[in-house]
Amino acid sequence: MNFTVLTLFPEFIEQGLNTSILGRAIEKGLLTADVINIRNFSADKNGRVDDYTYGGGAGMLMQPQPVFDAYKEARSRILSKRFPEGNPAGDESATSGSHNNNKIRCIYVTPQGEPFTQKKALELSGEDDLIVLCGHYEGIDERVLEEVVTDRISIGDYVLTGGELPALVIIDAVARLVPGVLGNETSADIESFYGDLLEYPQYTRPEVWNGKRVPEEVLTGDPKKTNAWRLEKQIELTKKVRPDLFEKYLLRQSTLEKLLKDKRNNIQMIEALRRGTGDIICTDPLVIYLECDKLALVGLGDSISVGELLGIIPGSARSIVCSAGLAEVLCRDERIEKSCDVHNYVYTEKVHRRVVNKDIRRLGMEYAGYIGEKYALGGPEYGRERLGAGVVYGIFVEGEIAGFIGTHGEGSIGMLYVDEKYRHRGLAADLESFMFNRDLEAGRTPYGQIILGNEASTALQEKIGVYGGDKVLSWLNIKNA
Ligand code: SAM
Repeated sequence: MNFTVLTLFPEFIEQGLNTSILGRAIEKGLLTADVINIRNFSADKNGRVDDYTYGGGAGMLMQPQPVFDAYKEARSRILSKRFPEGNPAGDESATSGSHNNNKIRCIYVTPQGEPFTQKKALELSGEDDLIVLCGHYEGIDERVLEEVVTDRISIGDYVLTGGELPALVIIDAVARLVPGVLGNETSADIESFYGDLLEYPQYTRPEVWNGKRVPEEVLTGDPKKTNAWRLEKQIELTKKVRPDLFEKYLLRQSTLEKLLKDKRNNIQMIEALRRGTGDIICTDPLVIYLECDKLALVGLGDSISVGELLGIIPGSARSIVCSAGLAEVLCRDERIEKSCDVHNYVYTEKVHRRVVNKDIRRLGMEYAGYIGEKYALGGPEYGRERLGAGVVYGIFVEGEIAGFIGTHGEGSIGMLYVDEKYRHRGLAADLESFMFNRDLEAGRTPYGQIILGNEASTALQEKIGVYGGDKVLSWLNIKNA
């Protein structure tokens, strides 16, 4: 992932980025950072970039032109990396989001932005490139913000002297979600804010310090006892210091209880709640919105009209998953079209867990062409997006790629493909078992969705011992979204 920071104080950002985990991730090439000094784009001979505010008001404001020119430079550097042989779409407009392939998120850090959350960090970690624009003085002329900014983010209800600390805060929170940056991939899953609970207290050596003993429950060596104690502490702490979060936790838990009564048919909703990727935005019927994936999951009831549904889900929503019955009703509206019908396939304890000793590796962007050619669903950019998220794995036979598998944005395992000449050797089962093991190690329930009529995939699931739900789910697209 690449971060580009537009700032008046490049050394501030450079020092922050070159330290500790971020510094190591940059050294390893997992992250790249480009810092652009806005002052270099000043048209003034003394390098001035600020002026008085029209209409009066305290302090100075950053002028639009240097910011715009710095942004254009950032954009052109990013696009020339994306398209080393020239941008096929051209880049006639420097403003953000002028073309799909040219779309680059540009964040302005400002106290007037949306509050920064772990969920936002997760969403941003799916991008290949992020531009972060730091303000100074009283901020930046609104006209240039309107031209270039896609997101305005605040790191809290207080005012700092400049955007450099907020930029570093956002980069740090996003970067640690990039696969490989933390080393231990699961550690980001079990921290504060996942599952709407704050983290439990933790202890290290010595066992007794300052007359205080480490609680017995974490010394027993019995993970059940330790986990029960930790959950109790999480609940206690969250209830006390973050009652708002605790309310969300209670709603999540009671919803999960209802969904678990029909686990196979509801697994997409269960996992969205458990993994913390989805937010409950309506309870009757249940609507869970996955901001990362611009996806609304509807369940536990079928009575909602298109108008009502589109009224409660954010305008950015692109797809809906619901029962086939509700889909039929929703598709009568011209704004909705059916994409496909699927059955859920859910891993259960009864599946024989296999250790996979094959050459399976996470694939990098160099496989974008190959994945794009072999996997058509989701459009030409989908494979690239999934590779960027670090969730596509290839199986290699004598050093040659023989197939791949991945995780979709909402969490289901899919994208399974094995090259013709390597079929009937059990490679698909190896890939699937590998993904099961990954999910299980991270405490997730593995599941997939199979398009109705895909006999080969259905047979593979049954061979492995995974059985489908009995209800048809429909994927719908929201037109022009
Ligand atoms: N006049 C602005 C206001 O009242 O909202 C404050 C400007 S502040 C002194 C200068 C810059 O610091 C802002 O343009 C922004 O980039 C950054 N900044 C300050 N506080 C921030 C916060 N809580 N979150 C994000 N950025 C912040």
